[in-house]
Amino acid sequence: MLFRPIGKTGMSASIVGLGAEHLDNRPYEVAEEVIDAALEHGINIIDCFMPGKPVRENISRALKGRRDQVLIQGHIGSVDLREQYDRTRDVDICRRYFEDMIRIFKTDYIDLGMMFFIDTEDDYKGVFETDYITYVLKLKEEGKIRAIGASSHNPKMAARLVETGVVELLMFSTNPAFDMLTYDADIGEAMAGRYDKDSFDGIDPDRAYLYRLCESKGVAITTMKTLGAGKLLSPEFSPFAKPLTVAQCIHYALTRPAVVSTLIGCETREQVAEAVNYLNLTDDERDYSSIIGTAKGTMSGQCVYCNHCLPCPVEIDIAHTIRMLDTASLDPDNIPERILDQYRANSYRASDCTECGSCEEKCPFGVQVIAKMHSAAAMFE
Ligand code: SF4
Ligand code: SF4
Repeated sequence: MLFRPIGKTGMSASIVGLGAEHLDNRPYEVAEEVIDAALEHGINIIDCFMPGKPVRENISRALKGRRDQVLIQGHIGSVDLREQYDRTRDVDICRRYFEDMIRIFKTDYIDLGMMFFIDTEDDYKGVFETDYITYVLKLKEEGKIRAIGASSHNPKMAARLVETGVVELLMFSTNPAFDMLTYDADIGEAMAGRYDKDSFDGIDPDRAYLYRLCESKGVAITTMKTLGAGKLLSPEFSPFAKPLTVAQCIHYALTRPAVVSTLIGCETREQVAEAVNYLNLTDDERDYSSIIGTAKGTMSGQCVYCNHCLPCPVEIDIAHTIRMLDTASLDPDNIPERILDQYRANSYRASDCTECGSCEEKCPFGVQVIAKMHSAAAMFE
């Protein structure tokens, strides 16, 4: 494994890290398999944005006294009130979830305390113009977090966060497709042919600026959505003429300035091994330039299953529903029984959607959720 220093924090992260979202709502054995494999391969950073107690307990149990071998990237304000993934800046609630996280992980501190999901002006005000920021600064002062981080999908906002001087680490959605989009790009807008491996000329200027800014300020980046929720690996969904490999996606992210670790969501030992195998490949095998140069569209409007659109007033698990829809859409006449069983097991139905639109306002990727719910209802009901 190779390690990179996390900016000025004094900590170093493995260049391939673990995103734990695929351990959510899964049995303990899945967490054990993935965490064991990650540690065996030298991974030393785990992101845990999920607020649920069961997944945190599973990760803690799987670490089996090895908590000191990993850096935990924990999020402040990620909550599951009313049993739905949500975010809050309410300090009392943040404190309750944070203290719970420390207790569950059987630790005194979280290494990387992330100010959760700051994409909009309202998010910014909710963090920096309330007692939320005072709380976060106090956590650092008391040693309950070793460094202050923030997560964002919006390059302009992320740059603003970096400019505050408070943020030591940024978790940012980085992959070649996103980089070739402007944040507010129209759905379907393509930037084919703009990519140039040796410069940022082909990349959205706001993103290019962000990477450079982080590098110049000594603010490290850990990446999320590195594989575009797997869509960059798929001939069906990739915006490029050919799908990328896991290694090419990792290499792309690791070749952005300031990026120190790619957090790859894994649910099996084999997926961990495939991600870490990046280290064994040649430069030619990692090279993504010939594929990126053939962009045929954008990722805008494609769901990456992040659940940032919750809560839904009728409690639809939007990400899971779209994921089932995407899977079923590959061959609508032969929908796997496993998918149908999953859909039937839900307590909600896509047809319950009231078209309130709150999910579409919150989705960072411009997904037309209501249309997806109609399609899911037609597909599964
Ligand atoms: S539009 Fe439908 S899916 Fe979206 S939040 Fe409203 S009810 Fe839920
Ligand atoms: S609709 Fe948007 S916010 Fe919701 S899971 Fe998909 S990408 Fe994430």
